[in-house]
Amino acid sequence: MIKKLVIANRGEIALRILRACKNLGIRTVALYSEADRDTKYVRLADESVCIGPPNATQSYLHIPAVISAAEVTEAQAIHPGYGFLAENADFAERVEESGFIFVGPRPETIRLMGDKVSAIRTMREAGVPCVPGSDGPLGDDADENRRIAEEIGLPVIIKAAGGGGGKGMRAVFEITELERAITMTRTEANAAFHNPVVYMEKFLDHPRHVEFQVLADEHGNAVHLGERDCSLQRRHQKVVEEAPAPDMDPAKRDQIGARCAEACRQIGYRGAGTFEFLYQDGEFYFIEMNTRIQVEHPVTEMITGIDLVAQQIHVAAGEPLSMTQEQIRFSGHAVECRINAEDPETFLPSPGRITQYHAPGGPGIRVDSHIYVQYVVPPYYDSMIGKFIAWGRDRSQALRRMRTALDEAIVEGIRTNIPLHRAILKDRGFQRGGVDIHYLERWLAKRR
Ligand code: ADP
Repeated sequence: MIKKLVIANRGEIALRILRACKNLGIRTVALYSEADRDTKYVRLADESVCIGPPNATQSYLHIPAVISAAEVTEAQAIHPGYGFLAENADFAERVEESGFIFVGPRPETIRLMGDKVSAIRTMREAGVPCVPGSDGPLGDDADENRRIAEEIGLPVIIKAAGGGGGKGMRAVFEITELERAITMTRTEANAAFHNPVVYMEKFLDHPRHVEFQVLADEHGNAVHLGERDCSLQRRHQKVVEEAPAPDMDPAKRDQIGARCAEACRQIGYRGAGTFEFLYQDGEFYFIEMNTRIQVEHPVTEMITGIDLVAQQIHVAAGEPLSMTQEQIRFSGHAVECRINAEDPETFLPSPGRITQYHAPGGPGIRVDSHIYVQYVVPPYYDSMIGKFIAWGRDRSQALRRMRTALDEAIVEGIRTNIPLHRAILKDRGFQRGGVDIHYLERWLAKRR
């Protein structure tokens, strides 16, 4: 039984977790850094603990501070949200060793999926389709590496096993560039992730990013909740997401979703998770698994009616899944726009005081945000200040509702990317649907 839960995160996801707990009758402990002291969601929590100065390494990433907050408040569980400590296996281990429930997978699973080489190997063995590649780390033998590249066929991409956030990868178009690319990626990966292991994959030139949401319990049950299309990206960061993916063949969805659920059963997965794929010419290629709740989870919630955060908490408490695959029904279409405190032209962060705020509303509109008038967006963290989500009976109604929501929204005092979203929603290519992961960058380059 979880009676009290620590929210080890900040911003919109802290508020989202708080709401799920309230609905479940679970008391909440909000953790905050000195920069987040005056936020409304901290006041909404039953209890709150300041865990350190604004700098995240001394607060939201400081494991002993998070664990002692759980100890002093006598909570039973810790929810890590996304980012910060959410995919830190050492943290999950420390949480469990200290006698608390970690709302997420077992530490071993996080470790296995955190290393992309072991994640891909595991998924290939579980029957999940992967990108043709080196099937393991690259060594220092130049001839052997060249042989692997020729077998895969150029272009290829060199990727860091410990990489994340779109960093630590390099495409290779000419065989003469290969060794240099391997050396450079290895050096960068070692500096950024303290892990020099790199591997090779076929470079796909016009893929879409399509990911599957899964839920699994510790009793061997696992289901998939369909897919999300997150192809609209800038610098490998998602900007707009939607569910289902435009033009997805339901039979293909069932097939790949079932593979993902089966892989969860095979590895003893627990909790919510996401299988990320590149999708090109009708084929899926697994690239990595995220072992946490994701920013874009609401679009799946809107088309399934399932509260994913509540499900995470149920499963963490040891309960069996409350639904079977057959009971999961998809209804309509949902789209999400990530609202960032940034200049819509230059993308430079724009922290500061919000002087005016009018949130959109109406049928099918959901706003997940912790902001309010007089809220000060701190300069220390990610620039995302919330998400607008629109649901419609079909894609065109969802997009129309999102356009109305974006037109209605007012955020003043800081700059936001709302004007960018308005322009994207008017774009013909986006309206048609199914654009690839390079579409937004090309569109931005043309706009310049
Ligand atoms: P990260 O953990 O840094 O997010 P991913 O493995 O998820 O790394 O890849 C991030 C992005 O890099 C993908 O969404 C895609 O845009 C690009 N990418 C990764 N692998 C390939 C590939 N084999 N071919 C083409 N693009 C790729």
